Amino acid sequence: MHELSITNQIVELCAERAGGARVTRVRLEIGRLSAVVPDAVRFCFDVCARNTVLEGASLEIVETPGRALCRDCNGEVVLAEPVGRCRCGSARLRIVAGEELRVREMELA
Ligand SMILES: [Zn+2]
Repeated sequence: MHELSITNQIVELCAERAGGARVTRVRLEIGRLSAVVPDAVRFCFDVCARNTVLEGASLEIVETPGRALCRDCNGEVVLAEPVGRCRCGSARLRIVAGEELRVREMELA
């Protein structure tokens, strides 16, 4: 389960940014195409946050949809997985959103 190490990295990053202050809320953005399962992150968060300034913090996850532009007709395609096809039939897509994994907001006590 790679979410455990990812969640650990997120917790470390937040703790670093908080600079010793207690973190009460974290809002995370996870792209649909990032191969990170939000439920798994949620599950790991409490464990990873234990004994850090994030202990007891609430976790909010915003899922951003996958979007791509067609290289042939320049149309926009909404993706649920990293591969897909445009309405024009082309599979030559350039992914423009949905691969992100970032801390969007943090609330300190
Ligand atoms: Zn197209």
